[in-house]
Amino acid sequence: GAKEKGRDTIVVFEREMHTRVSERFELEQDLRYGLEQQQFQVYLQPQVDHQGTIRGAEALLRWQHPQRGLVSPIQFIPVAEQSGLIVPIGEWVLQQTLSVMRQCEAAGKPLRFAVNVSPRQFRQADFVDSVKRALQDSAADALHLTLELTEGLLIDDPQSTREKMAELADLGVHFSIDDFGTGYSSLSYLKRLPLRELKIDKSFVQDAPNDPSDAAIVETILAIAQHLHLTVIAEGVENDEQADFLRQRHCFLMQGYRFGRPIPAADFVEQWLASANP
Ligand code: C2E
Ligand code: MG
Ligand code: MG
Ligand code: MG
Repeated sequence: GAKEKGRDTIVVFEREMHTRVSERFELEQDLRYGLEQQQFQVYLQPQVDHQGTIRGAEALLRWQHPQRGLVSPIQFIPVAEQSGLIVPIGEWVLQQTLSVMRQCEAAGKPLRFAVNVSPRQFRQADFVDSVKRALQDSAADALHLTLELTEGLLIDDPQSTREKMAELADLGVHFSIDDFGTGYSSLSYLKRLPLRELKIDKSFVQDAPNDPSDAAIVETILAIAQHLHLTVIAEGVENDEQADFLRQRHCFLMQGYRFGRPIPAADFVEQWLASANP
């Protein structure tokens, strides 16, 4: 009967829950251990202008687990965020990236580097101090650092968010809104916060040449940015059709497989320093 069926469903559900909880717990233990064992790596993906010249790079975290293999950030970032491990992991990504940045500066080929900041990391009381300390320790130039924040983070506790951003912006740090257009927030924060850049989410970029709604969203973001004097970068550009669509609408910064996949930071730097680019 229905009652029995209901009971079966609950049993199955509880078993699934249990599996998920213990999987999560195991993943968390693995993350902790992985950080100690240096299983993480920073990859860099180029950001190019309309001529294809490299203007910067985004740092993307990779986790090479001895048994699990290469684990996607989509899988482990949420667990790192919930457990708080994202704080030391995020600090480590920043240190690694600043060291690469310094290396480029010292070679006379400075480049802009973008680092993702998770909400949990940004909300730490000592977030600003930890970034300042990392900048000092690395001797890298704050002017070359972009921090990518997400919309969700910008709407809660607006006062403290603004203060933290202003303090770093005063040092020359740029702020970019990652996955712009996918959040649910009002746009009023755009005028209150010291932002430099909007990053158009790849979900809009990918179908823009064929889907009129996505095209309209991309064009609207470009118009907002123009009025507010913000730069725009499109992420997830995979082919010429998408790149042409963006260039025709004056979106001059792009990132995506069309221009280069994320590669290990050391390889990226080697290629960048060997290139004929400025
Ligand atoms: P995101 O910051 O929006 O990064 C862009 C994602 O798109 C990256 O996925 C990148 O590898 C991927 N991508 C780049 N070009 C293309 C393309 O042409 N086509 C497609 N389909 N995808 C492309 P990834 O590396 O798997 O990272 C996923 C997300 O994990 C990131 O999204 C970011 O939210 C988070 N993440 C990665 N590294 C870090 C980190 O160091 N700290 C924090 N807090 N989050 C990170
Ligand atoms: Mg990003
Ligand atoms: Mg993004
Ligand atoms: Mg994205």
